[in-house]
Amino acid sequence: MIVVLKPHVAPEKEAELRQYMLSMGFTVQDIAGESTHMLGLAGDTSHLNAETFARFDIVDHTIKVRESYKLANRRFHPDNTVIDVNGHKIGDGSMAVIAGPCSVESEEQILSVARDVARSGAAFLRGGAFKPRSSPYAFQGMGMEGLDLLKIARSKTGLPIVTELMDNSCLDVFEKHVDVIQIGARNMQNFSLLREVGRLKKPILLKRGLANTIDELLMAAEYLMAGGSFDIALCERGIRTFETATRNTLDLSAVPVLKEKTHLPIVVDPSHGTGHWNLVEPMALAATAAGADGLIIEVHNTPHLALCDGAQSITPEVFHTLMGKIQRVHEAVSDN
Ligand code: PEP
Ligand code: MN
Repeated sequence: MIVVLKPHVAPEKEAELRQYMLSMGFTVQDIAGESTHMLGLAGDTSHLNAETFARFDIVDHTIKVRESYKLANRRFHPDNTVIDVNGHKIGDGSMAVIAGPCSVESEEQILSVARDVARSGAAFLRGGAFKPRSSPYAFQGMGMEGLDLLKIARSKTGLPIVTELMDNSCLDVFEKHVDVIQIGARNMQNFSLLREVGRLKKPILLKRGLANTIDELLMAAEYLMAGGSFDIALCERGIRTFETATRNTLDLSAVPVLKEKTHLPIVVDPSHGTGHWNLVEPMALAATAAGADGLIIEVHNTPHLALCDGAQSITPEVFHTLMGKIQRVHEAVSDN
């Protein structure tokens, strides 16, 4: 529910109303309009109606918010959220490119790729240390050692690191050392993990589940926000359909749909979205044209030798050329 206040209310009257809302167990979010001041209530608001706040004469009227997501709802926060990690931004109108290998494999590999993608203009370095693999016999990632190598790559290039947290056994380490915590597609509806991560109040890249709707993605973001984390980028990474020519079906219409529904920045993953390196460029450019705030792209120095997702990884050379094209498409479609 959104509670619209009358103009020029006395601060003590507003404090009294706010206290009443908090005592009912709601999270209260300020929504500044051009000439109005509104309070957005998040929580179970199903039993509220126009009468609930009738005794407060500073309330002009109330608006029911039909959607179950509140804090993630653009109606609660009309301006775009901008994530800022030491000046590296997502959602500020620039095109934030997160690039790096699917998995960290060695110091030489991650340093070489990190240096190359930094030179080509990537804003963040990606690399999995803990990998969610379909087979228990496949390479599971380097674990803590991989995290240490990412830290070295960050110190050499200045790129903030984005890496996946698989379960809550590593929460403390991720809180201390990771710049942007990735919640993978398979964990998008791991609600107990979302609750734990939400409490960390760190930037999060939340990937859409393999078979989840846009509203379910927004509800997963709501879990994180209800815990106190507001810097969340939503990632479209393809969904399961009957199509087998591509690994997943990249739902690019999710970008403009999400832009209407939420103020959170949207990142597109053309690597997992297609599964084929030669399809990464056209879908990265299409995502840019569709209004994405960022891209996450798998780049490997020797894709044919990659321990994970080599078929969808592009070389640093291909990435370099692609970055120039992304820039040109972004300039062509952006408002400023
Ligand atoms: C990844 O980014 O390497 C990954 C495993 O992605 P997803 O969770 O989208 O499959
Ligand atoms: Mn991968």
